[in-house]
This record gives sequence, structure tokens and C-alpha cells, in this order.
Amino acid sequence: MPEPHILLLGGTTEARRLAELLHPAHGYRVTSSLAGRVARPRTPPGEVRVGGFGGAAGLAHWLRAHTVTALVDATHPFAGTMSAHAARAAALAHVPLLALRRPGWLPVPGDDWRPVPGLAEAAALLPSLGRRVLLTTGRTGLGAFAALDDHWFLVRSVDPPEPGTPRPARLRTLLDRGPFTLEGERALLRGHRVDVLVTKDSGGTATAPKLTAAREAGLPVVMVTRPPAPAGVTAVATPEEAAAWLRRAGARPA
Ligand code: NAP
Repeated sequence: MPEPHILLLGGTTEARRLAELLHPAHGYRVTSSLAGRVARPRTPPGEVRVGGFGGAAGLAHWLRAHTVTALVDATHPFAGTMSAHAARAAALAHVPLLALRRPGWLPVPGDDWRPVPGLAEAAALLPSLGRRVLLTTGRTGLGAFAALDDHWFLVRSVDPPEPGTPRPARLRTLLDRGPFTLEGERALLRGHRVDVLVTKDSGGTATAPKLTAAREAGLPVVMVTRPPAPAGVTAVATPEEAAAWLRRAGARPA
């Protein structure tokens, strides 16, 4: 009997960790799927495919054509379109689906967080909070801040913004990828005299030190809240729980 084939929708640290847990010694065939947005992604072990499937129908076709036993949606909590497609495709192809989604961050005493539903709302809030902004919401979506001529932005992202895309006039790009340290984040905020941080509620530990550094410095944090997850999909918080779910689901030889 062929080994169970797991399709892992990735692009996150957790997806890579799950690929490591399942491959190669544990009786699985694992294919990790990456969107292809990052120029030099950290590739997981096992098979890797890159690029979109062509919507939910395309993904359902891929699941059938490659005899996938179980689908794991381990995309970033803000990859809402892909998660919706995963739910639809799993239903169409009758393949069990698990969401691996790291929990969101929670404020602690001393935090000054301003939750907003999107980047446009984040931009609308900035004039009341500060002029020097550390922006960690990614290189796409900079257009939402383009009209803020009075503000200076330090944009931290893995890859540079696409040439020609709308962006604020006064901007410096810092190419970097987590994990980040508390020391480093303190120095960054101080060194650039940042007075407000804008972030997505990505969760996880790799990028959390900026929140501690902001709290220590008494800075407000504009926190973009998560898009809703698809209803009715079983979700776990860690790669270890996902591996256990796959074993329980029988996506493994007896
Ligand atoms: P999205 O808006 O939810 O997805 C847009 C389209 O990109 C999807 O419809 C799909 O194309 C394709 N796609 C997305 N993830 C894919 C994957 N893992 N494998 C193959 N195709 C994928 O996604 P996004 O927010 O642009 O994020 C893209 C990728 O970057 C995701 O894999 C995510 O895990 C990672 N990421 C996102 C963020 C973020 O803040 N959004 C942060 C860090 C990492 P088709 O419809 O053609 O299948």
C-alpha cells in the first residue's frame, strides 16, 4: 500500500516544522506548497511545489490527481483567500482538512494596542498616534499608507516592495526576516526614534519581541486583526498537534 500523501499548504515556520515531523522517517509522503511570493524561501524537507492552483476547483483537481490523503492548511493567519479555497477544495474532493494556525497575540498590562480590521483603518489612525512608524505588515499593501505625506515609515519585510507599486513618499526599507530578539527590537525602535508600530496579529514567538519593546518604550501599537477563518474546519495550534491529528485521522498506514 502506498504511503499516505499529505498536501501541506505552507509559507510559515509551522508548516516547515510539520514537514520535518512527518518526513522522511514517519511513513508519509509530504508535498509542501508555497505561493511563490518570497524570492528565496526557506524550503521544507520533502517534495515542494510552487505557485497557485487556480482557485478552489484547481486545488480540488490537484488533490484528486495526486491522490492526497489529507490536506493541512498551514498558511499564514492572514492568507484568508487560500484558507477559504482549502475548505472548499477539501469538501469538493472529499479529503480531510486540518488547519494549523498559531494563536493570536494577547495584550498584557502596559500594552497600548489599537485593534483595526485592515490596513486602511491602520492608516486612518496614524495621524493621531505618531509620525515615525515601524511598519511590519508586509511589502504588499503599502499603498494604504501612500497619502500620509507627513509620516516617515521604516518598512521591514523579507523582500523589497515591487518597483512602481504605490507607497508613502518618506520610506526606508529594512530587509530582514525573523526570528528577532528583544535587544535588537529595542535598538531598532530607539535608533530610528520610532513613535508608533503597525503590525498584523500574526501570533507566534519569532516576531513577538517588537511588542515587548513597544510596551517598554510606551509606544502605541496599531494591531491589524485577523480575517475570519473558514467555518467548520478543525484547527490546531502547533505542528506537534497537527502530526497527532494526522495519526488519529488514519492518514498513516496501520
Ligand atoms: P492569499 O491572499 O490567501 O492567497 C492568494 C492566492 O495565492 C491563493 O488564491 C492561491 O492562488 C495562492 N496561494 C496562497 N498560498 C498558497 C500556497 N501555500 N500554495 C499555493 N498557492 C498559494 O495569500 P497571501 O496572503 O498572499 O499569502 C501567500 C503566501 O504567503 C501564503 O502561503 C502564506 O502562508 C504566506 N504568508 C503570508 C503572509 C500574510 O501576511 N498574508 C505572511 C507570511 C507568509 P490560487 O487561487 O491560484 O490557488
